[in-house]
Amino acid sequence: MSKPSMDDLREQVRAPVLTAGDAGYDESRTVHNGMFDKHPQAVIRAQQVADVIGGVNFARDAGLELAIKGGGHSAPGFGTTDGGLVIDLAEMRDVHVDPASQTARAGGGATWGDLNYATHAYGLATTGGIVSTTGIGGLTLGGGIGYLARSHGLSIDNLLSAEVVTADGRVLTASEDENADLFWALRGGGGNFGVVTNFEYHCGSSASSSRRRPRITAPSRRSRSRHRCRSCRPRGWATPSASRSCTGQGRSTPASAPWSRSARSRRSWPRWPGRCRTPR
Ligand SMILES: Cc1cc2nc3c(=O)[nH]c(=O)nc-3n(C[C@H](O)[C@H](O)[C@H](O)COP(=O)(O)OP(=O)(O)OC[C@H]3O[C@@H](n4cnc5c(N)ncnc54)[C@H](O)[C@@H]3O)c2cc1C
Repeated sequence: MSKPSMDDLREQVRAPVLTAGDAGYDESRTVHNGMFDKHPQAVIRAQQVADVIGGVNFARDAGLELAIKGGGHSAPGFGTTDGGLVIDLAEMRDVHVDPASQTARAGGGATWGDLNYATHAYGLATTGGIVSTTGIGGLTLGGGIGYLARSHGLSIDNLLSAEVVTADGRVLTASEDENADLFWALRGGGGNFGVVTNFEYHCGSSASSSRRRPRITAPSRRSRSRHRCRSCRPRGWATPSASRSCTGQGRSTPASAPWSRSARSRRSWPRWPGRCRTPR
């Protein structure tokens, strides 16, 4: 039996099938990391689950390497391939928010910018990437660390379910209750277990999320300027380490941090003799 051709692929899927020279081919084959300049035989710009199924079946039957491109931010360039087939999910990025259940469903090619924009309108948020153009796909399947991770856990901790096209072309739902082993594998296993066409996340209140963000306060300008003398600073621009205090002789002795509450309340600022009284 002869191997299927690109014409067969075009008959099987409705989505645009782009080959070298077609408008949009270069945009779809390139990824964020410019070190990977690969040229697939074809790119499917998938628009619906049926396109993904068609692409997976075609790549399997034709023996082509298959790459899935979400946001294209993979550092090792896994979103593209040489001589194989790319399924570009960039057009599958619809987001639906259900404020009643505090959940959001997003297409497999959505970016964090897409998801945040949609959830924010309802005062909701979930843990996502720091850069808005990173794909929810690769980031979630790899774990997902973001600003809200300390208060809300990783992206995979908030993943409730995923719609997955597996290598045999089936569409499965993976969740705690359905195909639990696949769900377990997706949460950290990257793109190795199928193409996720839809992610469902739990969201929290974005107001409480920002309130719960850790607050890191720097020492006041006054306390920093008291330590400008280079010989009194053991490391970098920082004031002497918390357990030591300046003697003005280029050495330091143990003391409480000069900006600590107890030091301030006791008015126990060290007095800087001689050369340490650097004019401001
Ligand atoms: C600028 C930048 C900022 C980043 N910031 C963060 C951050 O804040 N937090 C963090 O945790 N990580 C961050 N990362 C790392 C990032 O999460 C990973 O590189 C991730 O793989 C990117 O996902 P993507 O969909 O954009 O990439 P792609 O290159 O499109 O995909 C990466 C991998 O995931 C697979 N994949 C993507 N979508 C799907 C899908 N729908 N179904 C199945 N497989 C899929 C692909 O096959 C590929 O193997 C950052 C990376 C960059 C370049």
